[in-house]
Amino acid sequence: MEKKQITVTSPLLPNLDEYHDLLKQIWNSKWITNNGSFHKQLEKELADYLKVPYISLFTNGTLPLLTALQALRITGEVITTPYSFVATTHSIWWNGCKPVFVDIDPNTGNIDPDKIESAITPKTTAIMPVHVYGKPCDTKRIQEIADKYGLKVIYDAAHAFGVEVDGESVLQAGDVSTLSFHATKVYNTIEGGAMVMHDEKTKQRIDYLKNFGFAGETTVVGPGINSKVDEMRAAYGLLNLRQVDSAIEARHQVAIKYREALRNVSGVSFFEDMPGVKHNYSYFPIFIDASKYGMTRDELYEKMKASNVLGRRYFYPLISEFSTYRGLPSASRDNLPNAHKMADSVICLPMHHELSDDDLNRILVEVVR
Ligand SMILES: *Cc1c(COP(=O)(O)O)cnc(C)c1O
Repeated sequence: MEKKQITVTSPLLPNLDEYHDLLKQIWNSKWITNNGSFHKQLEKELADYLKVPYISLFTNGTLPLLTALQALRITGEVITTPYSFVATTHSIWWNGCKPVFVDIDPNTGNIDPDKIESAITPKTTAIMPVHVYGKPCDTKRIQEIADKYGLKVIYDAAHAFGVEVDGESVLQAGDVSTLSFHATKVYNTIEGGAMVMHDEKTKQRIDYLKNFGFAGETTVVGPGINSKVDEMRAAYGLLNLRQVDSAIEARHQVAIKYREALRNVSGVSFFEDMPGVKHNYSYFPIFIDASKYGMTRDELYEKMKASNVLGRRYFYPLISEFSTYRGLPSASRDNLPNAHKMADSVICLPMHHELSDDDLNRILVEVVR
């Protein structure tokens, strides 16, 4: 008999009876979208949980990226990383700006601050880094560079829900940060996302922009979009927020077991926790050095798949390899050696709150050799 499939991720789902009770309240109120009471409550509870002053909900994690560039009036060139989910660069392109790829630091997977300055031209207006796998970027260095050249910084923090550095939210860095609450992420509202900002004025402007730019019945303040979260998703999000800490702790235990089992496997490397950082264990990437491991990354990936253990090659191919972007001068392989090396060696192992010891054994039988 074929064994059950072990997927890379599994969505955190609210208790169905509790969700039903909240749905009844929505049905009774007949207020189903447009800044309803669950929407307001979720923004408040998320701001508290994430230790940020202001947050605006969005219907996914791509629209806050698009809206951030629009709100900050970004034009010209935007410096970014090729080692991310494709939505990061798409948001730059959709705003009519030119993405400029900068290589990553092989020790973190994040954009290498040492390589940002040489990519700046008179047309550069912003930097869009990603806290990849939820590992914080060197936000201090990036801000110093941004300040020196008068650039905005927009963090794609889709992986960094709840991540803190020395007790402070990593979402406080930069001009704004964006989150994704997609079903595959640590915290989900099925589809969903958010933007985090520092002041009330920006929050107000973003709230207008996610509602077509409406600042009143007859006033439109800018070219807005529709990214309003409905009450069903907001209620779902409230319930999930109550169990996200235990889900993150379950992921932490999985990470501990993976590291223990893989520490002495030749040709396999992985990231350690960073000192002073509260991690969210959103992913568990391993990197295969085929010459030492005796098998290529893709061979391992296929072997796992044959046993119904699914890995994901996040992030392969690099964004700079997709047809829209591969012609850009900064997309050349020579410009991005570390990113290519990581993309060619990575497999993200299954990582979620429901992995049992049996699941872990099945996964590790495939990887340990
Ligand atoms: C998931 C993700 C997004 C997009 O979020 P959606 O909610 O799927 O639109 C953007 N950037 C990164 C790095 C992501 O992982």
